Amino acid sequence: MNEFDIIKNYFTVASHRTDVVMGPGDDCALLQMPPNTLLAVSTDTLVSGVHFFADMAPEALGHKALAVNLSDLAAMGADPCWVSLALTLPDVDQDWIQQFCAGFFELAEYYNVALIGGDMTKGPLSITVTVQGTLPEGKGLKRSGAEVGDGIYVTGTLGDAALGLQQALGNIVVPEAHKEFVHHKFEHPHPRILVGQALRDIASSALDLSDGLLGDLAHITRASGMRAKIELEQIPLSDAMQASVSQEQAWELALTGGDDYELCFTVPELYRGQLETALAHCGVKFTRIGRMLKGDPEVAITLENAPYQLQNQSWDHFRQS
Ligand SMILES: [Mg+2]
Repeated sequence: MNEFDIIKNYFTVASHRTDVVMGPGDDCALLQMPPNTLLAVSTDTLVSGVHFFADMAPEALGHKALAVNLSDLAAMGADPCWVSLALTLPDVDQDWIQQFCAGFFELAEYYNVALIGGDMTKGPLSITVTVQGTLPEGKGLKRSGAEVGDGIYVTGTLGDAALGLQQALGNIVVPEAHKEFVHHKFEHPHPRILVGQALRDIASSALDLSDGLLGDLAHITRASGMRAKIELEQIPLSDAMQASVSQEQAWELALTGGDDYELCFTVPELYRGQLETALAHCGVKFTRIGRMLKGDPEVAITLENAPYQLQNQSWDHFRQS
């Protein structure tokens, strides 16, 4: 089976979008942009053995490759529209491709995202996804808009994906009742698209949590030129997390673990009521975890109002000999 047959058999999926003037098959895709619209674009590459286990189920990989990109659109408050996919595959394994596509297109269809093109090459397994979305002119949740006094919020619970990774590595034993939840959070992140859209006129800054709260929130402090204070006792932790590790380990996973793809955002006090209303419609849990303060760009952690130092910022102490 050659590249053209693979594309014809697996990657040609009818889309309902009327703004795709020319999809895959010509030299370029042609897209009709609505008037007074900004284009939001983001790219991510996932490399086998670096970003995912080589034996990861292809269906989950197809989902995750698209999900982590859509998460960036969510963090900007954009409406997802189009995606292109560059796949490097060691060989043509039709079963693998079919399952990868099942995961990829299920999520694409959910958000009405059309595949508009891509590329396929032979080599070590690697996936590059570029997503495009739209925003009304003048909108967009940048990292630089936070103001002193704004509340800091996160969606969902934090650290579950990192717990899933440690479970997969055999470093943490998660109780049977929570195993599947944790594995799912690690392999099937759900991009917070609806939350991002709802925050467009409410949040002063936002980003998605890909590398861990501490590191990611530091981007907002630098871009906005101020300090962030987070209260450990407010950090939302799942039942699975609390059943699996000590309180301190839970905080550490929540603050430094990556791959959660929840949103972190700041909101002026004035819009607090509006925020409650807007996010109630999304059905997504969100938690206020701290406040933006005047001062040097850094993230300060407190526990019951006293400064708190994370015990260990590496995973070594989770490793069992
Ligand atoms: Mg991001």
